[in-house]
Amino acid sequence: MLNVLFSAKPAAWAEYEHPLNAAFERAGIAANLKLNHAPEDVDYIIFAPNGPVTDFRPYTKTKAVMGLWAGVETIVDNETLTQPLCRLVDVSLTNGMVEWVTGHTLRHHLGMDAHIHGQDGIWRDESFPPVAAKRPVTILGIGALGAACGQALHTLGFPVKGWSRNAKDIPNIDCLHGNDGLREALTDAQIVILLLPQTPETVNILNDETLALMAKGSFVINPGRGPLIDDKALLAALDSGQIAHATLDVFRTEPLPKEDPFWGHPSVTVTPHIASTTRPETAAEVIAENIACSEAGKPFRFLVDRGRGY
Ligand code: NAP
Repeated sequence: MLNVLFSAKPAAWAEYEHPLNAAFERAGIAANLKLNHAPEDVDYIIFAPNGPVTDFRPYTKTKAVMGLWAGVETIVDNETLTQPLCRLVDVSLTNGMVEWVTGHTLRHHLGMDAHIHGQDGIWRDESFPPVAAKRPVTILGIGALGAACGQALHTLGFPVKGWSRNAKDIPNIDCLHGNDGLREALTDAQIVILLLPQTPETVNILNDETLALMAKGSFVINPGRGPLIDDKALLAALDSGQIAHATLDVFRTEPLPKEDPFWGHPSVTVTPHIASTTRPETAAEVIAENIACSEAGKPFRFLVDRGRGY
């Protein structure tokens, strides 16, 4: 019998207890899933950064920490964590992100706001939206989420460039990497979507210099992490018209403070970190299968590289 500790915000237990136990049963794992175990008895920790466990030292026999989140920036530097850390890659989380990114991309591409807010009796038929083929989209970060968004946008007809750390070959995405690749990815991009993890290398990746590479009047969509953008540089680019609109789901401080200039800026849409979320039924399957893998002596899936930071 494996002792599995659930350490997330208290409300999550009601959502996860049944799906996790059902997934363990399907995966053939005998698990004693609880909110409390003696630390020295715990085999696996199912973990979210908003739960009670912050010091992993007492968990001396724990084989792995199974994250419930895709982003790991709040735990990756925890020096007490010496056990392997797996992040979550989950089909529902991915599908939710694809829907959110596609929706906000189409909003800007089609110029929907002009008509949603233009219900004043004036017949504005002077311009038609361009077809997607004329609207180059760039995705910074083409991992689990970025690559899936890229495929969906390609299916709609957008030319998609993607940027990553390592060279990649992903069908339907013009893949670029490295510093030169970043310049090429951003130059003349009309919509830029940020799906990078937050690491020392990616902080402020959109700054005065990189925002200037984008096409005049282009759009920024950030469901990645707030610190990927230099906020002052973005505000200046919005005020100058270099960037026509930014849709921001993530921020340096969350909840975004009331006095933050992004609130109420006419060219900013704030969404409250809701682009996507972990769904218990599918997340439970991924975690149970990963634990089954480990118990069968196979390598963990979705293992975080602590040195690289994601
Ligand atoms: P992932 O699979 O690890 O993909 C990360 C991508 O970023 C990879 O393509 C990686 O390149 C690239 N990358 C990392 N560091 C880089 C660097 N220094 N230069 C260039 N490229 C770099 O992560 P994911 O599952 O797609 O998730 C991405 C992020 O989305 C998460 O970290 C999280 O911050 C965010 N997220 C947000 C929400 C929300 O609701 N707003 C929900 C879930 C996740 P390689 O492929 O070469 O490694």
